[in-house]
Amino acid sequence: MLEVPNINSKDAKLKKLIYDVDDSLFYKDNYSNEEFEHLCVCSGGTTSSCAKNGFTTLDLRKNYNKIHLDRKTNLVTIGGGVIMGDLVNHLQKHNRSFPIGLSKLPGAGYILTGGVSPLSKAYGLAIDNIESIKGFLGNGTFISLKKNQINPEEQLIWEAIKGAAPFFSIITEIELKTIQSNPIKVIEGFVNLNELSEIIKLSEEFPENISLQWIYAQKIYIYIFAELNNLEDKRTEESLMLLDKFPALEKQFHENFNKINFFPKELNLYELNANNHSEVISLLGEDLKNDIPIFIKCLDEIMDNKPNNSCYIASQQLGGKTKKLNHGASFFVHRKSTWKPWIYASWKKNDLQEKEVALEWIYKSWSKLKRFYPNIHLAQLHNHLNSHEEEITLAFGNRMNELKTLKNIFDPQGILPPL
Ligand SMILES: Cc1cc2nc3c(=O)[nH]c(=O)nc-3n(C[C@H](O)[C@H](O)[C@H](O)COP(=O)(O)OP(=O)(O)OC[C@H]3O[C@@H](n4cnc5c(N)ncnc54)[C@H](O)[C@@H]3O)c2cc1C
Repeated sequence: MLEVPNINSKDAKLKKLIYDVDDSLFYKDNYSNEEFEHLCVCSGGTTSSCAKNGFTTLDLRKNYNKIHLDRKTNLVTIGGGVIMGDLVNHLQKHNRSFPIGLSKLPGAGYILTGGVSPLSKAYGLAIDNIESIKGFLGNGTFISLKKNQINPEEQLIWEAIKGAAPFFSIITEIELKTIQSNPIKVIEGFVNLNELSEIIKLSEEFPENISLQWIYAQKIYIYIFAELNNLEDKRTEESLMLLDKFPALEKQFHENFNKINFFPKELNLYELNANNHSEVISLLGEDLKNDIPIFIKCLDEIMDNKPNNSCYIASQQLGGKTKKLNHGASFFVHRKSTWKPWIYASWKKNDLQEKEVALEWIYKSWSKLKRFYPNIHLAQLHNHLNSHEEEITLAFGNRMNELKTLKNIFDPQGILPPL
């Protein structure tokens, strides 16, 4: 058994646990004996794909857990098994930070699959801040790639590492740009559907240093997140003043991003409930603009049909710098996206009927939300679910064939998760 936050993975009866990436990992005999078998890689252990019944897991947390900040360059080097909480705690000692997501639990998977942060509008996705990587391709070849020093024959690999790494590589080291740790103002609280509608409208006009995240579980909770990098900033002040009309919202001042914990206990989220298994699917789309009222109606219907109280829909805002391509091309192809909603459901772990109903709710909700959010953010690999093929097609769009080519060349035995 593997001690990880994701309960599906925690309960999995592993075939074998490996801690080191060495040659034997890539010997054909190890992995060709069972149809569809592949190696599961674990970094933060927050997804249902880092361990599975009868599969081998490569757990990077023990041997690839180093964090080193170079004080001259302010670049930080982390192992492939480092979790985001440990990264920001380390950086805080030097008054630096990194655009991590809404939880401190995810590991390198957060960075390699894109990495959408409340700070992304100002600093880009996590992948936009990668300076170099080291690791192994699925055929056992060691790779070491550094931005601005990429040969033409390495270019495609470099681009694909940023967004699609799990399919053809095991990344043991990542060098990242860090950012100055600035004070943050959070405006948060419970709102009703009408208020959510108004707040979404306001948020689509927010400047790059302000982002909205909301979660609709039993009730709706919102977080508006403003980085105060310039206290005199008039536009920030004006944008935040528009929120004064929502009396239930509270303003909190935080010394820095690293100290903020999202998702208050009052939301009763089932995410880490040891008796439940769960799945989550993440979408991508552009500003809702005039569609906000229809979207709110659709959301209301979806939540009316939820099969149990664990189910929720949440969303985070991107855009701004994530729309820019000056970080170089990547396999996060839906750069126009400004919203990343996700749909979550869980069920009692041995109740197959409840599982079927919960997954059906996820799929039905996804199909209703597609008109607003037609694409996928592949933050969770679902090769154990029927939706996998559609998800990867909607995640990688016109780069899907290039990814298949990379997979064929660099993971010919299919050691890593299948496409
Ligand atoms: C509470 C919570 C909040 C979240 N908030 C956000 C958010 O705000 N923004 C956002 O973008 N995402 C968010 N996520 C999603 C999360 O970032 C992704 O699911 C991510 O893939 C998890 O990474 P992990 O290392 O923790 O997972 P793991 O389960 O350890 O790994 C997931 C998969 O990623 C691949 N992988 C991981 N590490 C490596 C590596 N070093 N080399 C090669 N492949 C690797 C493997 O295929 C592995 O199976 C959130 C998840 C949770 C649970």
